[in-house]
Amino acid sequence: MAMNAIDPQAIIAGQRRALAKAITLAESQRPEDREASQTLLNAVLPHTGNSIRVGITGVPGVGKSTFIEAFGLHLLARGHRVAVLAVDPSSPIAGGSLLGDKTRMEQLSRQDNAFIRPSPAGSALGGVALKTRESMLLCEAAGFDVILVETVGVGQSEHQVAAMVDFFLVLMLPGGGDELQGIKKGIVELADAIVINKADGSSENLAAITQRHYAGALSLLKHPGFWQPEVTTCSALKNQGIDAVWRMIESYREQAGARGAIDSQRAEQNLAWMRQLIDELLRARVRDHPAVKEALAALENDVRQAVVTPLAAASEIVRLGQS
Ligand code: GDP
Repeated sequence: MAMNAIDPQAIIAGQRRALAKAITLAESQRPEDREASQTLLNAVLPHTGNSIRVGITGVPGVGKSTFIEAFGLHLLARGHRVAVLAVDPSSPIAGGSLLGDKTRMEQLSRQDNAFIRPSPAGSALGGVALKTRESMLLCEAAGFDVILVETVGVGQSEHQVAAMVDFFLVLMLPGGGDELQGIKKGIVELADAIVINKADGSSENLAAITQRHYAGALSLLKHPGFWQPEVTTCSALKNQGIDAVWRMIESYREQAGARGAIDSQRAEQNLAWMRQLIDELLRARVRDHPAVKEALAALENDVRQAVVTPLAAASEIVRLGQS
């Protein structure tokens, strides 16, 4: 066995060390690691899919980690095994992190039946989403039956997360319109549920008003399919309304399951993912081709000097990349 080989049986047996190593392998950029990781993923693939995949987004400060801590502990108490993965749009760009810098979900992280993995650093957003999908499969193979994928409601990451989960939950603050919430247009359309957090103390009334506002807004949107997105309130800090969020997800799962809607949504997601991967693989193949590496600087210079059109240069690069 190669040094980096991981026994698929150890993952299927739920060994945390093996799972953590497998995710590290999946996150690696080295070609030999990529290959070992794909072999491992193929070996565990028959053991994946037995989870409910829940995406959770919201602006910094809305209470994502507080919510996930309370929600995760609630799920553990009900006998579930919970994995928390993060897609952090800030880590590849700034080197900093919106998720995972501070000590987050301290109680949850100490539980045997919880597994928390921060966002992989140092790769493009598409790459982060790809690695998170692979990590999700590994967690499922290891027997985690609820996968929470957390992301910050800025940029494109929430679209990527919505495209890899069964149920997408948007956390919001009491009060304020979409702009004040920092919520980009389109996020509400992605939501299967909006949960107004911090519905406690002096904010309780405002949370109820906000709930009605979004319930009204959602009822005006045309939703394809059977599920009408719901709006609830909770206090992650006081552990109120957390159980109702889980009941709602269970209800979704029952209704969707009866219609085969989760399987068909996952099938569509896999197809979309495959198409995205084709683009990325082709791009990588062209970019890494020796002939392209050799010619690139000169062609870029020609484009800069406007002696060659961008299309002509791009065509030449793609041609070289296929040689
Ligand atoms: P994140 O950036 O979205 O992960 O937010 P955090 O979970 O770190 O929470 C940001 C701040 O809001 C912290 O000071 C929390 O204690 C506080 N907070 C989170 N949930 C609640 C809640 O339900 N009620 C109140 N009053 N504060 C909360």
